[in-house]
Amino acid sequence: MSLSHSEALLAIDQGTTSTRAILFSVNGEILSIRQKELALHYPHKGWVEQHPEAIWQDTLLLCQGVINDAQQNDIRIAGIGITNQRETTLIWDRRTGEPVYNAIVWQDRRTTDICNRLKDLGYEKTITEKTGLLIDPYFSASKISWILDHIAGVRARAEKGDLAFGTVDSFLLWKLTEGRVHATDITNAARTMLYNITEQKWDKALLEIFDIPAAILPDVKDNVAAFGTTKPEFLGASYSIGAMAGDQHAALIGQGCFTPGMIKATYGTGCFALMNVGEKFRISKNKLLTTIGYRIDNKICYALEGSIFTAGAAVQWLRDNLGLLVDAPQSEAIALSVPDSNEVYFVPAFTGLGAPYWKPDARGAIMGISRESNAAHIVRATLEAQGYQSRDLIEAMEGEYSDTQLAGILRVDGGMTGNAFVCQFLADMLDRTVEIPEVMESTAWGVAALTGLQCGLFNELNDISRNWVCARRFKPQISETDRRALSDGWRNAVNSVLKNKAI
Ligand code: ADP
Repeated sequence: MSLSHSEALLAIDQGTTSTRAILFSVNGEILSIRQKELALHYPHKGWVEQHPEAIWQDTLLLCQGVINDAQQNDIRIAGIGITNQRETTLIWDRRTGEPVYNAIVWQDRRTTDICNRLKDLGYEKTITEKTGLLIDPYFSASKISWILDHIAGVRARAEKGDLAFGTVDSFLLWKLTEGRVHATDITNAARTMLYNITEQKWDKALLEIFDIPAAILPDVKDNVAAFGTTKPEFLGASYSIGAMAGDQHAALIGQGCFTPGMIKATYGTGCFALMNVGEKFRISKNKLLTTIGYRIDNKICYALEGSIFTAGAAVQWLRDNLGLLVDAPQSEAIALSVPDSNEVYFVPAFTGLGAPYWKPDARGAIMGISRESNAAHIVRATLEAQGYQSRDLIEAMEGEYSDTQLAGILRVDGGMTGNAFVCQFLADMLDRTVEIPEVMESTAWGVAALTGLQCGLFNELNDISRNWVCARRFKPQISETDRRALSDGWRNAVNSVLKNKAI
């Protein structure tokens, strides 16, 4: 390995709420970081959009800032990697670069009817067998169909080959290379619902089901590849883009989860857990998604994915809607001010329940309230809900395969893991050690590390996992009897929520 202190890797992390450019040393140390909030627009109930030009201009500005920092400190940038919010859909004109519509964000529900129709037509099984996904507006395919059918003239232009579709990675690559490269990586492709993840190619039958012309699709590459070089005028020089990966996949890599059974979970607004399941594709029995963890040197690694829709968002709700907190970190001291939640359970199903329930019409509930219940019990129950929801998810993962032993460790990251109470309760409920990495920016670091592979700073994945350092470790501290009693209470609370439909 040729390590030089003056060499660095630049990660673009284009997320839903903000865009960041981060310069990493080869050891994962952050040398420079720039961030800008990105606005979300809600033109109608259930619609969520972003401005493509804002995504591009913010990315450009942030990269210029970080590159400037690098130059001032005599640091050479060896390559650029891109990681991104997944599924968010853009279509633009190949000649002018003009988007034909705003970016439709993954959270957008406008295509619920399209998805319900496909379910009624009996396509769910075929789609799951090919993509590992469950039919849902979340994924890109129905969003593309919507744009083709609702924006005047777009379908004809798409069929003529004049338009390009891409998720955010692909859009940024196209922009940075000034339209020379129209490509995506396999993890982003896997979330479109048009990509066959067993055969590893765009799927004709899926394109027919969604009525989408193949002419708009990008090329699909490994996560580590010579994606292209940036136009010199943009960043002051030409840099090579050596890696791309969807955000959760990049975090799996940043957390060094390279052996089957290893799991990472990111606790931000929501929670996403990915487990490495090795090179064999298998459909979930427990309503988890099968996805591509990564593909490097043409070697595939699949992952099981489970998502909890509401994690940190419930803490925000305590702060903003109930006024119980001044800020999110205060929840830790308040939770610890009482010995337990006094049998209060909070099922934070604000937008339905995710894996393993998939009940979009479920709604939240606070249960077990008695005359002695107070605000601290509710705060504590909110944080404990993360432990219970994670337990449900991990139990579902455990039930999947007889031949894949889950690791006794959960590697976590995301804003909520700054809360030691949450981490300890997670360890207690999962009966597993919970580890927090020194490099908290797992997502950005993951794609930076992949870029390091492409430009020769790393030789193999093990170089990345060897660099992974644990900053904090939480070990389970409660008895199996207590764990059972607590989780039985949660089960009752969830069962009541599942019985009640949204009003
Ligand atoms: P995202 O990437 O989804 O925007 P972050 O990883 O930045 O999310 O985490 C922010 C979320 O974590 C917010 O919902 C916030 O309420 C929650 N959060 C941040 N710090 C804490 C804390 N110390 N305790 C509990 N929740 C926290």
